[in-house]
Amino acid sequence: MSFSEQVLVLRTGRFKEYDLWVRFLSPTRGVQTGFAFGGCRSRRRFCGCLDSLNLVLFTIGYSSAKRYLVLQEGTLISGFQGVKNQRNKLGMAVHCLNFLQKICLEGDDSSEIYLLILEVLKVMENHPSVPVFFPLLFKARATFIHGYQPVLNKCSVCCLSVEDMGRGFFDIKNGRVFCSDCIPDSKEVLQADRKSLKFLDSLSTAGPSEWIKWRPEQEVLQDCLKVVEAYVQYHIE
Ligand SMILES: [Zn+2]
Repeated sequence: MSFSEQVLVLRTGRFKEYDLWVRFLSPTRGVQTGFAFGGCRSRRRFCGCLDSLNLVLFTIGYSSAKRYLVLQEGTLISGFQGVKNQRNKLGMAVHCLNFLQKICLEGDDSSEIYLLILEVLKVMENHPSVPVFFPLLFKARATFIHGYQPVLNKCSVCCLSVEDMGRGFFDIKNGRVFCSDCIPDSKEVLQADRKSLKFLDSLSTAGPSEWIKWRPEQEVLQDCLKVVEAYVQYHIE
């Protein structure tokens, strides 16, 4: 019994002279590891497929007793060469893939995150210069998708819109915002400008093809970096 699926290769490694393990993101099964026996020398079955950052259509079977996945053959759909050929783009892409492996577990529903990372890579591929904040936005959006969608548009106590706040305060533990009148006495609250909270909130509806056009102020980026890092560290790392 076997099935075919288009997947994104995240990492590969050699485990015997000609054999490779391949970690990949499937749109339906989360992050998985499969084994490509003879993968190092089989040009016929795996021509150009077995590298990270490749989008590949694999035919996948099972070992005896279904103990592990066996990659039978692959067809390269995209190698994202435009990303791999530029060092700064490659660095950003690797950063995104590393985070993805941290957040996406085996068997997770991964359809949304799969579409997101593919869109990130396609946008990187098609634009000559990619802003340095791209991995930060990916990290934030991926965290939101994985069950930690914060409510960023209003004070969680008095419902004052962030538009009308001077400063806002982000509750790292519960993913919500307080205005300066409602802020509780807690160590897990970070101050952030309302512009920064609005910027983060817009991530929930805008994808990478919009991010590429954004030019946020430096202060907004600094705030977002602080909030996202703290939020990720609290809930994921
Ligand atoms: Zn309030």
